[in-house]
Amino acid sequence: MALVVQKFGGTSVGTIERIQSVACLALDSQARGQDVVLVVSAMSGETNRLVELALQIHPSPYSQEYDLLIASGEQVAVGLVTLAINTEAAKRGLIKKGEVAAKGLLGYQVGILTDSIFSKARIQAIDTSRLQNLIAHRVIPVIAGFQGVDPESNITTLGRGGSDTSAVAIAAALRADACEIYTDVDGVYTTDPRLCKDAKKISRISYEEMMELASLGAKVLQIRSVELAAKYALPLQVRSSFNSSEGTLVVSQDLLGERMEQVVVAGVAADDAQVKMSLQNIPDGAGVAARIFGALSRASIVVDVIVQDVPSNGLLTISFTIGRSDHLKAREVLEELRAQSFSAMRIAEQAELAKVSVVGVGMQHHPGVASKMFQILAEAGINIQLITTSEIKISCLIASKSMKRAVECLHQGFELHRVD
Ligand code: ADP
Ligand code: ASP
Ligand code: MG
Repeated sequence: MALVVQKFGGTSVGTIERIQSVACLALDSQARGQDVVLVVSAMSGETNRLVELALQIHPSPYSQEYDLLIASGEQVAVGLVTLAINTEAAKRGLIKKGEVAAKGLLGYQVGILTDSIFSKARIQAIDTSRLQNLIAHRVIPVIAGFQGVDPESNITTLGRGGSDTSAVAIAAALRADACEIYTDVDGVYTTDPRLCKDAKKISRISYEEMMELASLGAKVLQIRSVELAAKYALPLQVRSSFNSSEGTLVVSQDLLGERMEQVVVAGVAADDAQVKMSLQNIPDGAGVAARIFGALSRASIVVDVIVQDVPSNGLLTISFTIGRSDHLKAREVLEELRAQSFSAMRIAEQAELAKVSVVGVGMQHHPGVASKMFQILAEAGINIQLITTSEIKISCLIASKSMKRAVECLHQGFELHRVD
């Protein structure tokens, strides 16, 4: 029997009505002969609410207790979804008194073992025995996404949007036949449909392109979920819990077929939570960059664009970008480094920045994509502060206030509104 892992995001469990339709959807899949495992997120807005509460107490609250707090939204959703499935199953006459159709489980109860990097924990192992036993008895496991447990039994969380990663990891561990990500849009679009009304749904996209889009701000899938899906060659289907439209299949490049030849740019991504930090007056010398970025990496801060200027009078300026949520932590790390090693270092910071990117595997064989991107932004009067490129993406750092216009102009300029 085919096994499918279905993940429901915040909006899909945002109200009691939505939860009841998730229950129907899961039971319908089971009635079609599939074995079903559910992974659920917190009700929409709930994790943000919990984060806000913590921020009222401390500007940088990230700790064990922070994870304990923000993981709690998923527990509520698991309880409600499980209750809804059991109620609906009884109504449909699928279970007798005393029997259950679904069983709710938190991360630790499923043995989702992670490391101890709180707020960004990585899954190390999943013990599938309990899940397999439930599946064998046709009971639907309803699992809390986003959370795990570390070797010291502390609750950990997997980073914002982490329920996607929980779902893919569980699907991979169970060797499921499919993993369906139900969300509030009916697939992956050429850009965020909230930013550009001309965005078009993509029927198939490669893991590589989806990883780039996700890492560059397309939060429809958490990047680590796509990395894991690619590693296990697990096809991911992104679809809406509001309608039965086909959605988008995220697959390996060789399954893209025709599409690859035609498309140079597959999508535009944007992220407006960027901070640029410039470190001035650093003595030029071997090992300087290693010291700075080593300290940031030990604090689990992900650094993105890095630019090192030509030294002048033996002094360097190194600029780099980070996500806004790491801003305070990065400042603390750098101030400590200044106190220890670089007493003359000046730290300049610029927030209110956004990164806009174009992504496409076709770019590898088509010259001129970068110059076209710069031309489009120039014509829109948008100033570029930093540029980075890889084989399949070009990113520009710009002012946050210009982000929406930049996305619209790039979408139009690269003719993504013509995608069918
Ligand atoms: P969920 O709560 O279901 O996990 P998310 O809010 O995390 O949902 O992700 C879905 C959202 O991702 C959409 O509402 C959309 O605004 C945004 N998004 C950003 N880029 C894209 C894209 N390229 N395609 C589709 N949605 C996108
Ligand atoms: N509830 C968590 C968040 O809002 C996890 C998720 O939705 O995937 O980030
Ligand atoms: Mg999400």
